[in-house]
Amino acid sequence: MRLASVVVGGERWAAVVEGDRAFVTEVPGLDAALAASIDLMSAPGEWRRLADLQLDAPLRPPVVFCAGQNYRDHLAEKAPVEVDEPEFFLKAGQTIAAPDDPVLIERDVTEKLDYETELGVVIGRRGRRVNPSNALEHVFGYVVLNDLTARDRQVKFSADGHTTLSLGTSKNFDGSTRLAPCVTTADEVGDTRDLALTTRVSGELRQSNTTANMLFDVASLISFVSRLLTLRPGVVLATGTPGGTGWGQDPELGGTGVTPEGCEPARYLEPGDTVESEIERVGRLTFEVVE
Ligand code: MG
Repeated sequence: MRLASVVVGGERWAAVVEGDRAFVTEVPGLDAALAASIDLMSAPGEWRRLADLQLDAPLRPPVVFCAGQNYRDHLAEKAPVEVDEPEFFLKAGQTIAAPDDPVLIERDVTEKLDYETELGVVIGRRGRRVNPSNALEHVFGYVVLNDLTARDRQVKFSADGHTTLSLGTSKNFDGSTRLAPCVTTADEVGDTRDLALTTRVSGELRQSNTTANMLFDVASLISFVSRLLTLRPGVVLATGTPGGTGWGQDPELGGTGVTPEGCEPARYLEPGDTVESEIERVGRLTFEVVE
């Protein structure tokens, strides 16, 4: 099942999307449906044409949990770091853009706006100190996510090869988190350990990988994060991006110039670009870049 949040008459409602139509419920957004474990197909509502509806981001959690440095080839495209446990950081929920809003490049925020296509995990069941062996029982579904990054604010690279990372300003600016309009339920996605993941920028293939190349898989990441924070329904966990980012082609920031097989050499985003992030069985996210 594919689930969304739609805006009708200025109010936000949870909806079930099937083909070119949607069952618009009277539940105020998918976040509320998850928090109260509401079965949307049993909720009051009506079928509408999808084309007549305005889609909002499916979820608007207060923060987005993020893993980083979680694909082997993303580690290889820049100065090496030691990885013994997942990198973890937060993005403010207010960074989540509506699906139709373009991302605005503000040059005093960043000169190096970079894309990061990621598998987003949507938590459906509360939990703390969850074992990897039953972590997937806490997953409601999955969503395609793009963790837009001000690379020049994230990375300080010194001539001796030392890299310092800053994940506050580099990850938190208006519109810096993109979610596909629909969450796909876990039963429909099935096993997430080998899903094809691609990014196209203005039609050029830039990232082409599989979730099989994650260092820490979905279950391990859920378990790790739940050691720190209680998982709540509606939490979104971003699982990191593979190689093929603009960073990899940027020697000023330690990029090693590696281009993933079959891809075009990457560059940072520019006004006029269209970004398409796609993950097998999960969905597709598209947005425009403007100045
Ligand atoms: Mg990321």
